[in-house]
Amino acid sequence: MKKYKVGIVGATGMVGQRFAALLENHPWFDVSVLAASSRSAGKSYEEATSERWNMQTPLPEAVKNIKVLDATADLQRIADEVDFVFSAVDMKKDEIKAFEEKLAKAECPVISNNSACRGIADVPMIIPEVNPEHMGVIETQRKRLGTKRGFIAVKSNCSLQSYVPALHPLHEKFKLTRALVCTYQSISGAGKTFETWPEMVDNVIPHIGGEEKKSETEPLIIWGEVSDGNVSPAVGIRITSQCVRVPTLNGHMAAIFASFEKKPDIAEIKSIWQQYSGLPQKLELPSAPNQFLHYFEEEDRPQTKLDREIENGMAISLGRLRADSLFDYKFIGLSHNTLRGAAGGAVLTAELLCAKGYL
Ligand code: NAP
Repeated sequence: MKKYKVGIVGATGMVGQRFAALLENHPWFDVSVLAASSRSAGKSYEEATSERWNMQTPLPEAVKNIKVLDATADLQRIADEVDFVFSAVDMKKDEIKAFEEKLAKAECPVISNNSACRGIADVPMIIPEVNPEHMGVIETQRKRLGTKRGFIAVKSNCSLQSYVPALHPLHEKFKLTRALVCTYQSISGAGKTFETWPEMVDNVIPHIGGEEKKSETEPLIIWGEVSDGNVSPAVGIRITSQCVRVPTLNGHMAAIFASFEKKPDIAEIKSIWQQYSGLPQKLELPSAPNQFLHYFEEEDRPQTKLDREIENGMAISLGRLRADSLFDYKFIGLSHNTLRGAAGGAVLTAELLCAKGYL
């Protein structure tokens, strides 16, 4: 099988490094272009990341000598040299939007980790196991952008990967009406380590800029309906959240309280989670976890350190499901923020888009 030529823009950052590590030996994708800011441009990838390679695995041999391009100045070259790109640049929102649209208009599909294009009705925001049908809006977007191949597909925010996958199969059957979510988010979610953010050692910070709004509104887009080639957000569900930064390196935990139109029983919920399988599992996509939702019966699980890497960081861990006095139920969710929540989720999205002929 011919492999796709892939670019990573924002390749030197926390998420970009994850992409580089994850794509080593990928059966469908070959990384051939790496790009970042002008600060890194012109250096080899090894040089550009020498002081800040944060992955547990060594820098992949295949990419270490690739010369880093300047994402903005070399945009046309990037578009010419690859079949599609993963975007993990950190710039101002309007700059990211303009940059990603320019790439798409240069006929280079973009799978983005950024929030800049989320919420545009013809830009699909995909959790592959949850709303693969949103891919359908790509045709509308191509018409708007005037492209044949180019389009933007986005990943949702990392915080909600710990609860939307668990609520989704319940919502399908029992209609979610309200949810309250408190998230406990790791420092890699801010692109940081304990070395680069020493203030986080022995500390908790009760504010993550913009995160609560994303945690409350993006699930409604994911559960939104596709009509006339656009996504309209779901109505009739209210979500409120508080998002807190905690001193863990990787893994976002969430405490979830939820009520439904028709109240399920606990055994039903556990059985639905156990059996839930999405399109990535049916298509046997290379990065799909075998079991998407893992439920732990132990009272003290899931734990960030023990369970974030489950199924290569691509599964969601759940536990402590019990009745609540204000809502129908409460439970705990955990996902790996830079794997399922960022680079891994984007790679799985790209595999889905390939399998369905969009790339
Ligand atoms: P990061 O570690 O700060 O990396 C930022 C990347 O963007 C670097 O490669 C940097 O290049 C590049 N960059 C900065 N300014 C640029 C410019 N003007 N032109 C081109 N490239 C530029 O950030 P991160 O944590 O990887 O996050 C990247 C994006 O993913 C952010 O939008 C973030 O919100 C999103 N995200 C992060 C996570 C997570 O868990 N970390 C999860 C989901 C989504 P240089 O090295 O050359 O400066």
